[in-house]
Amino acid sequence: MGVCSKVRTFNQTAGVEMIELPTEWPVGPVNVFLIYGEKLTLVDCGRKLEKAWGQFNASLKQRGLTIMDIEQIVLTHHHDDHIGFLDWILEKNPIPVYAHANCRPYLTQDVDHFQRGAEFFSTFYREFGIPKEQAEELANSKAWNQGLKNKIQITMELDGGVAIPGLSEWQVIETKGHAQSHISLYRSSDHVLLCGDHLIKHSPAGIFLEAPIFPETERSNPLIQYVNNLKKCLSFPVDITLSGHGEAIQNLPELINETLQKIDKRAGRVKSKLVNRKKSGFDLVKELYPDRFEDAMILLASDTIGLLDLLFERGEIISEKRDGVIYYSV
Ligand SMILES: [Zn+2]
Repeated sequence: MGVCSKVRTFNQTAGVEMIELPTEWPVGPVNVFLIYGEKLTLVDCGRKLEKAWGQFNASLKQRGLTIMDIEQIVLTHHHDDHIGFLDWILEKNPIPVYAHANCRPYLTQDVDHFQRGAEFFSTFYREFGIPKEQAEELANSKAWNQGLKNKIQITMELDGGVAIPGLSEWQVIETKGHAQSHISLYRSSDHVLLCGDHLIKHSPAGIFLEAPIFPETERSNPLIQYVNNLKKCLSFPVDITLSGHGEAIQNLPELINETLQKIDKRAGRVKSKLVNRKKSGFDLVKELYPDRFEDAMILLASDTIGLLDLLFERGEIISEKRDGVIYYSV
C-alpha cells in the first residue's frame, strides 16, 4: 500500500474498529468504536434509531460478532447521539457501563436534575438579558429527556487518570467543554487518541452550557474548560485521533491550534462590540446574528456566554449586574 508510517488511518489502528452510524442531525453520522482490549469494549452507542440499530447489528455480524459478545461499554459523554441505544444493548446483554459521573443524571433520568435545569436556565436567560416570558419559554423548551426506556446505573465512574478494567492499555483523559461529562481515551503505546466530540475534523465542536449537576453550585464555564482541555491534549504525543463524528484526525496539534485561533478571533469580535457601550449577552447575540437569533437562541446564548466568560477570565472585559441583567463592557 505504501502508506507512510506517520500517516496512519483508523484502519491501521491496532485493535480499534470504527463503525459509522446514521443520525438525523446536521452533524451527520456518528462514530462508535470497538476496542479489542482484554475485554471487547464498545465506545458509545449511536443515536436511538431503528436504522442505526440495524446497521450496528449488521456491522457486528460482518465481524462474526453479536451484541452478546460485547463485554463492556464506555461512554465519551451523555449526548443523545452517543448514548442512544445503550438500553437496547443492556436489555439483551447486561454488561458494565463506564462513564463520567456527570452522565449519571441523564442515564438515571433524574427528574429533579431536569427540573433544576429548567430553573437554572430560566435565571440564566434572564441574567443574559432575554425578556422574562421568552426566557421561561426557552428554559422549558430544552429537550431534557434522553429517551432511555430504563434507568441505567454507571458501573464505575470515570475521571482523568482512572484505569478502565479490561482496557489496560488505555488511560482516561478528562476533556470537559463540549459536555460536562466528556472524557477521551488515550493509548500511549502507539499515540492513539479517541476523543469523542472534543474535536471534529469537519466542524467546530459545539460548546454547551449545562445546568450544574449539584444543586447550589456555580455554573460551569464550558469554553474556558474547552480551551484548557485543548491545550492539555497538545501535551500528549498523538499520531492519530479518532473522533465521534467524521474522519480520523491526522494532525491533531494543527487542528487544535487552528481551533484556538478561531476561538480567539471570535472572542475578539465580541470584545469589539463592547467598546464604548455596555451590552447584555442578548444584545450581543442580536447584533452578531441578526438573521439567526430567533431560531437558534439556545445555541447562540451558550456560544456567546462562553466567549464572554473567556474574555472576562482574561481580564479583557468587566461586568455589572443591573435589574437582574448582567451587562458587559471593555
Ligand atoms: Zn456531543
